[in-house]
Amino acid sequence: MPAESIIVVKLGGAEGVDFSAICADAARLLAAGQKLVLVHGGSAEANALGEALGAPPKFITSPSGYTSRYTDRKTLEVFLMAVNGKVNSLLTEQLQGLGINAFGLSGLDGRLITATRKDAVQSVENGKRKIIHDDYTGKIEQVNTALLETLLAAGCLPVIAPLAVSEKGEALNVDADRAAASVAGALKAEVLVLLTAAPGLMAAFPDESTLIRQLPQARLPEALEMAQGRMKKKVLGAEEALQNGAGRVIIADGRAANPVSAALAGAGTHIQ
Ligand code: ADP
Repeated sequence: MPAESIIVVKLGGAEGVDFSAICADAARLLAAGQKLVLVHGGSAEANALGEALGAPPKFITSPSGYTSRYTDRKTLEVFLMAVNGKVNSLLTEQLQGLGINAFGLSGLDGRLITATRKDAVQSVENGKRKIIHDDYTGKIEQVNTALLETLLAAGCLPVIAPLAVSEKGEALNVDADRAAASVAGALKAEVLVLLTAAPGLMAAFPDESTLIRQLPQARLPEALEMAQGRMKKKVLGAEEALQNGAGRVIIADGRAANPVSAALAGAGTHIQ
């Protein structure tokens, strides 16, 4: 099957997104001969584990208004345990239970996703700018497509946890939407489906009657203004995926029945 027919699906980490419905839908698509790659988040699990281990999550806001997790070494280890240890393994287990040969890995394994460690992260707190130096987050540079193609050729379903590896071999926390976008771009995927706990991108969030059905790539800068909070990362991810060669991007509801098929059939916000 040509590489163009790969679909990359990103499973949101927010509550309400039904992983079992996504897995069942993935099983049907795979049975029909569709090649898939899954990328997942897991911030809710990481937050919960951090609280339980006495390392509650800290968030930073960049001068341009993006919120991200502040990942010191301890937080990175919590993130590894929660996202790679728990979410990735449970998702792999669920898929294996459906007879799918899921292969769970993170961007660290086999240098699947390489990133540059952000050695000085700017944050704004109470209107004041601060520079943070001990942050283990990365800007994604490259995706090892040969590794993914090998897994796909072996009949496996890659299930990717949002971690990357630095030039020095350090594990880095990366945003799952951006990781999915990089994978979709690098594989020249036919579609990137970003599943979340919303019906798609709304022009006037949270008014669902303002759902945008079609969005030309040229209007993504406007869409960035409409998106609030973490929805901004999805819009940025969409832009990156399309720029790097993905065919189209769909932001769709992960709470729906057959969420991937529904998105492919027209649900959600279609960006191209
Ligand atoms: P994830 O699914 O990756 O965990 P988040 O829950 O962090 O994603 O971010 C997606 C959320 O962003 C949506 O569920 C919604 O509540 C919110 N949101 C903010 N702005 C918008 C918008 N313009 N359109 C749709 N959702 C939006």
